[in-house]
Amino acid sequence: MALLTFESRLIAFLIHIVLHLLLPLVIARLFFSDRWKRAWLIMLATMLVDLDHLAADPIFDPERCSVGFHLLHSWPAVGVYVAALFVPWVRLIGAGLVVHMGLDGLDCL
Ligand SMILES: [Zn+2]
Repeated sequence: MALLTFESRLIAFLIHIVLHLLLPLVIARLFFSDRWKRAWLIMLATMLVDLDHLAADPIFDPERCSVGFHLLHSWPAVGVYVAALFVPWVRLIGAGLVVHMGLDGLDCL
């Protein structure tokens, strides 16, 4: 990652943000078609999980892998999010968080 230019990092960051918006939309349309707007909004709201970045110093580091570093991105937390997929009343929250961790994890490759 250190050899990437500022422009390529910016493009990668923008793609990352767009995926955080679009992938939940695709999942909402595919699996919750009768209430996709509500499902999408709930999954978008799970992006609040990134508030845990505020406890880090620096708050944003493009070289850092969020998954396994921040409290709400820790592996035990990811386990809770996966478990939430099996609990109907929090399934959408779990889906949003699992998608979020997956997309954040792509940055760690
Ligand atoms: Zn995140």
